[in-house]
Amino acid sequence: MFDFLDIRTLAFTNIILSFSLALGLMCYASTLTRFKIIFNVGFGILFFGGAGLLLSLRGKIDDFISIIIANELIIIGFILIYYGLHKLCQSSFDISKGLIVTLFIFIFIFIFILFLYYTYIDPSIKARIIIISYSISLICILCTHVLFTQKVKEYYLPTRILGIIFLFIAIIELIRSIVGSKISNELGFSDLSDIHVLVFCVSILHITSIGFCVVWIVNLKLQGELKALSELDYLTQINNRRSLECIAKKELSKAIRHKNPLSIIVCDIDHFKRINDQYGHQAGDDVLVNFSALIIKNLRDYDIVARYGGEEFLLLLPNTDIEEAIKVADKLRKIIKKNQFSISDNKTILVTASFGVTSNIESSNNWDIMVKVADNALYEAKRLGRNQVVR
Ligand code: GH3
Ligand code: MG
Ligand code: MG
Repeated sequence: MFDFLDIRTLAFTNIILSFSLALGLMCYASTLTRFKIIFNVGFGILFFGGAGLLLSLRGKIDDFISIIIANELIIIGFILIYYGLHKLCQSSFDISKGLIVTLFIFIFIFIFILFLYYTYIDPSIKARIIIISYSISLICILCTHVLFTQKVKEYYLPTRILGIIFLFIAIIELIRSIVGSKISNELGFSDLSDIHVLVFCVSILHITSIGFCVVWIVNLKLQGELKALSELDYLTQINNRRSLECIAKKELSKAIRHKNPLSIIVCDIDHFKRINDQYGHQAGDDVLVNFSALIIKNLRDYDIVARYGGEEFLLLLPNTDIEEAIKVADKLRKIIKKNQFSISDNKTILVTASFGVTSNIESSNNWDIMVKVADNALYEAKRLGRNQVVR
């Protein structure tokens, strides 16, 4: 059926492609200190190339190397790729890790023993083809599972594309094992040339798509990290001032359009400098982290909290008028006052905070003016003795 495709050329293409892609991935991994896991994938593809090379030398080198070692290299290659994909995708798979490791060791030993048997004791190409095809098929199904169970929305496209390709290979390998089981023992590799042409073609698709999708996923990861770095406060991992202003302006124009109230609360920890001076800067950091978590925990899901300055936070409350916002601020004030903030050495300390509140309806539909009004209210709260809410 595929007479127009020369199997030797396909095998050669496979080898060249594997080696070049593996080297490319390794060079790429060497420039990314945090993504060393790409080395695994690179080595996996390198093993595929090595296996292809040894298989093509069949008859010219010892059978042990060209048959047994070559097929074991394929299995190791798949294991490395499976592990690499698993780490890279942070797959949420529920099969126990121990079970997977045991399964891989089992496949590895299983192939070794059966290949020894069907190479030296009862030589049979048919048996070897069936064994390796089933094994590859099984591992490809495991890889598909890893790729399809990953839950990060951003990686959806590359993981699903790669998952489909692994599934496709699993099916082709199953077909190869079924076709292989139908040939007679005397016939050889060349009698399955059509299916082998297919296997080589799919392998080329497989290797290129692994390389491409791995780089794609890493790029998405880096992009996500960059976004987080530019939008989140490093210490508390909540919105920073820059991202808050972006969100706030959108929320404000939405509120004006729908004639809904929008309130803001500016909140500042009282005498925070004393905490730093008395317990150290690390304790101050701990308080900031716990303080922001406490605020978030006690707000509605669609309220937005940001670290606005050192120990100053800005809370954006959509659909909330000033009276409600004052109630929210006072509720937070009481919760903060009662809370035991843990710092290092199992110590806890008490903290209070002051609040300035305003709403667009009460002050202005201009964001900068709103913040200024809330800030003035905060200063007034400080002046009046702290631990209070002022509008
Ligand atoms: P007030 O009640 O008037 O707000 O007094 P305060 O001490 O809280 O305010 P002040 O502005 O005098 O001091 C704020 C301190 O917050 C000074 C600064 O070193 C500290 N600070 C700012 N950012 C951080 C941070 O990220 N970590 C720690 N540990 N301290 C910080
Ligand atoms: Mg303060
Ligand atoms: Mg301050």
